[in-house]
Amino acid sequence: MNYADAARRALTSLKDGFILLAIESSCDETAAAVLNGRRSVLSAAIHTQIPLHRLYGGVVPEIASRSHAERIRAVVDEAVTRAGVSVSDISAVAVANRPGLVGALLVGVSYAKGLAYALGAPLIGVDHLQGHIAANYLTHGELEPPFVCLVASGGHSHILHVRSYSEFELLAKTRDDAAGEAFDKAARALGLPYPGGPELEKLALDGDAYAYPMRSAFNESDESDFSFSGLKTAVVNLVHTEAQRGARLNRADVAASFQRAVVQTLVDKSMRCLERTGESTLVLAGGVSANAALRAALKRAAEARGARCFYPEPHYCTDNAAMIGCAGYHRLLQGCADGLALDAEAEWRL
Ligand code: AMP
Ligand code: MG
Repeated sequence: MNYADAARRALTSLKDGFILLAIESSCDETAAAVLNGRRSVLSAAIHTQIPLHRLYGGVVPEIASRSHAERIRAVVDEAVTRAGVSVSDISAVAVANRPGLVGALLVGVSYAKGLAYALGAPLIGVDHLQGHIAANYLTHGELEPPFVCLVASGGHSHILHVRSYSEFELLAKTRDDAAGEAFDKAARALGLPYPGGPELEKLALDGDAYAYPMRSAFNESDESDFSFSGLKTAVVNLVHTEAQRGARLNRADVAASFQRAVVQTLVDKSMRCLERTGESTLVLAGGVSANAALRAALKRAAEARGARCFYPEPHYCTDNAAMIGCAGYHRLLQGCADGLALDAEAEWRL
C-alpha cells in the first residue's frame, strides 16, 4: 500500500464525516478515542492499570504490556461503539508510538498497524508529549500556537516553545527526575500509595507549606534547566532522620513543603521562558497539570505579567487517547502519515 496516497485520500475526505481512531498505550492506561474533527471528540474509552501496579508501588513494565494486550481490543471496540460508528467508517488511525515503555507502546502500535492495513487507512505515529500539549486544544477551542508550554508528566519535564502545530523548540528541561516522578517518589517515602502525585497533593492540603525549608541551589541559579532529585532526596532524608530519632514527622507539613518547592521551581522557570521568548501565552500539560496548587500558582504568575494561562480539563491531564487523536489530526493535516515500518521508541526526541 502507498501510505502517502492513503494520506492524500484521507485528506480529501476530511470535510465529509472524517473519522479518526486514536490509540494510547505508552504506560499504564489502555485508551482509545474517536474524533471527527481536530477538536471534536465523539467518544473515549480507557482501562486503567493502576490497581495492578499499586501492589508494587510503581509501574511494572511486563505487567503493563500484558494488560494492554488483554484489553486493547475491548477498549477500541468500546470507543467505536460509543461513537456510533462502525470500524469500516474509520478514515485514519493515530497511535502514540513514543516515548514510553517500549513493550507497552508496541501493543498499541501493532494493533493500530493491523487496523490501518485492513482498512487501507493512513497510520499516524504520534509523539506522546505532543499529545499532552494537544489536550489543551481539546479543552480550549480558541487556543492556537505560538505559546510556551510546560509539559510535566511522570517521565518528562520540559518547557517547550510551541511555534506552530508542528514546530517545537526545547527551552528548558529537568536535569534528573521528572516532576511527576519526584512527586511519586516523595509520596512513596511518605507511605502513600501509587500513583503518589494526587495522594501527596491531598495530604498537602492539611499541611504548612513553610514548615520545612526545601531549597535547591541549582533551581535558584541562573540555569534555565531545573532539578527535582535533591527535593525528592530531602523528603526521603527527613523521613529517615525523624524515624531514627523516634520523632513523629508531620507528614502533611512535609508534603506541603515539598509541593511548594516543586511548584515554585516550575513557576520560576516557566516565567523565565515566557520572558525569553516574548510570548504572552503559557500552557500547562501532562499528568502533573492536574495539580491544583501548580495550576493556581502558574495562572497567578502568568496573569501578573499580563500573560494568559491555559491547562487541560482534569480528564485530559493524564494519559488519554483523545489528545493523541488531536495531535494525530494535526500531523495528517500537514500531509504526514507513517507506513507499516512505524516502530515504538522508548526515548523522546523533538
Ligand atoms: P503522565 O506521565 O502524564 O501520565 O502523568 C502521570 C504523573 O502525573 C504521575 O507521576 C502522577 O503522580 C502525576 N500526577 C497526577 N496527578 C497529580 C497531581 N494532582 N499532583 C501531582 N502529580 C500528579
Ligand atoms: Mg503521559
